[in-house]
Amino acid sequence: MLGLDFALEQDKKDVLKPYKDQFYIPKDKHGNNLIYMTGNSLGLQPKSTKHYINQELTDWAALGVEGHFEAKNPWLPYHEFLTESMAKVVGAKPIEVVVMNTLTTNLHLMMVSFYKPTKTRYKILIESDAFPSDKYAVESQLRHHGFDHNEGLILWQPRDNEELLRYEDLEAILDTQGDEIALIMIGGINYYTGQYFNLKRITELGHKHGCKVGFDCAHGAGNVKLNLHDSGADFAVWCTYKYLNSGPGSLAGCFVHERHAHNKDLNRFTGWWSHNKATRFTMRDEFDQLPGAEGWQLSNPPILSMAAIKASLDIFHEVGIDALVEKSKQLTGYFEFLLKELGDDIIRIITPKHPEERGCQLSIQVKNADKTLHHKLTEAGVITDWREPDVIRCAPVPLYNSFEDVYVLVEKLKTILNE
Ligand SMILES: *Cc1c(COP(=O)(O)O)cnc(C)c1O
Repeated sequence: MLGLDFALEQDKKDVLKPYKDQFYIPKDKHGNNLIYMTGNSLGLQPKSTKHYINQELTDWAALGVEGHFEAKNPWLPYHEFLTESMAKVVGAKPIEVVVMNTLTTNLHLMMVSFYKPTKTRYKILIESDAFPSDKYAVESQLRHHGFDHNEGLILWQPRDNEELLRYEDLEAILDTQGDEIALIMIGGINYYTGQYFNLKRITELGHKHGCKVGFDCAHGAGNVKLNLHDSGADFAVWCTYKYLNSGPGSLAGCFVHERHAHNKDLNRFTGWWSHNKATRFTMRDEFDQLPGAEGWQLSNPPILSMAAIKASLDIFHEVGIDALVEKSKQLTGYFEFLLKELGDDIIRIITPKHPEERGCQLSIQVKNADKTLHHKLTEAGVITDWREPDVIRCAPVPLYNSFEDVYVLVEKLKTILNE
């Protein structure tokens, strides 16, 4: 039921089908396409990326420093070419978004501005299974301000024998300790369980208790409709090398809500790229803060990496996040259906069942499995991601994964489990 014929039929109907051809799909040693399910770790390379980068290399060769003004895409305002598309991807206004630095760097820059501890309100709330970098960053901010990083950290934890977090528990924490919490910093989609949080609900709750609220959307950007502006969050950060396919270690995104755009009193770290563009090169002026998210930039950015982001965002712009999410829900729904057919006694999906509470990733526990299962899948040409102690994360990415990919993945899993 709903087997290969169904999968092929769905692929035929899929309006995003042509996009698979716009990406390089990694191959096995016989030259066959691998089933790539780790776009949540590192997105695949668009075939157009090299042309975008080559354009900048060509202009650099021909123009040298003049490329800042004379390049086909002048380097001086290059980051502005990304703003509108990126704002659309994350559901924000252009003034709220900038591409700069890397994710963890941006997180620190945001905490410089939005983590303003006092003697009585200094704690930071994160989810208990936060991504390690986020936890380390937050702990170091606590220490930086002279607090104990164990005492100052409040964890939103799942209940015993559960993986997902419950809003009632967050409400309970805030009811009892809300006036001690300076900042709530949550992974918009938890990297481990794939739980997509209700950003607006968390933000409203945090603000009601006088906390600042920020999100790490590394697993959300390019995957779900984040609606960052409407969420009301104070800030958000995300990387572009996962669902946004812009290459290993590429630059990150940063969102600062419009209501902070013109507040020059916010404490922040600055550099010449935070300065008014009109007088930046006068070099001897008093510092003059740029409004909006751009005002958090420090340095002139790496254009080659920005070119890779532009290549990717042009695809997202063409497809639109609505069409992407629509396919994503069907694809992941199909994946879930096939996994369930393997039997609840063998497979447990820890990701939420409700399509509004997840993106494309499913985190799967396989009974009695250890890492050899992951090795066997890899040998069978299926690239997934293993997280200790027993979770396989698979992300069918709507831009370049097909229903057939999902079908073949589950068939291979079935074969391995039956061995
Ligand atoms: C991938 C990821 C990171 C990575 O941070 P970098 O600064 O880009 O190395 C951080 N946080 C989360 C939640 C992630 O998923």
